[in-house]
Amino acid sequence: MATTITITGAGGQIGYALLFRIAAGDMLGADEKVRLRLLEIPQGMAAAEGAALELQDGAFDLLEHVEVTDDPAVGFDGCNIALLVGARPRGPGMERGDLLAANAGIFGPQGEAISAHAASDVRVAVVGNPANTNALIAASHADGVPAERFTALTRLDENRARAQLALALDAPVSGIRRVAIWGNHSATQFPDISHATVDGRPIETALAERVGDVSAWQETTFIPRVAKRGAEIIEVRGSSSVASAASATIDHVRDWVHGTEWTSAGVVSFGEYGVPEGLVSSFPVRSVGGRWEIIEGLELDEWARARLDASVAELVDEREAVRALGMV
Ligand code: NDP
Repeated sequence: MATTITITGAGGQIGYALLFRIAAGDMLGADEKVRLRLLEIPQGMAAAEGAALELQDGAFDLLEHVEVTDDPAVGFDGCNIALLVGARPRGPGMERGDLLAANAGIFGPQGEAISAHAASDVRVAVVGNPANTNALIAASHADGVPAERFTALTRLDENRARAQLALALDAPVSGIRRVAIWGNHSATQFPDISHATVDGRPIETALAERVGDVSAWQETTFIPRVAKRGAEIIEVRGSSSVASAASATIDHVRDWVHGTEWTSAGVVSFGEYGVPEGLVSSFPVRSVGGRWEIIEGLELDEWARARLDASVAELVDEREAVRALGMV
């Protein structure tokens, strides 16, 4: 049986970078056949249809079928994995409340369509921003689908953090583990290195030899660099990060399905680390038997606690804003 994967916003840039890697087996493995559903809004249909033609031309052994649609009932029919990429970008003069409202109008109906049409094992990864709150909205509209099947992508933040650590240490990124992203996928996120290791050695010890005062380096260099990396890419490249966002999406789903001992993901809180229940917050997680588990029992000092609390406060505000709209 092939896996059916639905990609919303499939005609957009991240969609274009995702489709071919999925078809090549990078997400689910070289033995797993895939069926792709490219879901778009009417304005995006031509771009998605063009991508579908190119998928044909890729002659991918693993690609069984491609369908392009602007009907969520068709797009999510039998879907095992939903990648919710399409979202309303912030327009000029748009307030955060307007952005949340516009996206609630997208992610609420998508949650309903997932509940009505997706396969019983559906897993959902939200990429479109504000990703955490969009995941919360979709989950709260998906009757009968366990809330823990809805996740938000913070893997790009983790990948960026590991890459910056590798640069600072002049070490291969592959040796850097146990970096945690806490909170919201936004500028308030907290990339935490206090449990991280390089080649099995505490990373803070290795960093001290390179940067001196590790606390100061985190505050002034590392955290701003990771949190503002998206803006840096826009400045240098002239448009937003696309291939790295697609690559992180692949990493997120691959690890969810195939398992990992440590990564970070936006998952629903059941009160872990004092994060209010029901919020979709990033935590360090492991994946066992195809399910995310929050890694519990990590020590957070006062400084780390304040960082996490600030990001969680933003998530609470976002939830209040969509509650006021009657969307959750
Ligand atoms: P992109 O494919 O570049 O981005 C899509 C979404 O991913 C945006 O919300 C963007 O957020 C988000 N994103 C998350 N992480 C990152 C990151 N690291 N870097 C950049 N973006 C990130 O947008 P396009 O405009 O090219 O494509 C969007 C497509 O979605 C269009 O084809 C549109 O028609 C479609 N769409 C589909 C909908 C649907 O299926 N119902 C609904 C709405 C749109 P941010 O804006 O913050 O950068």
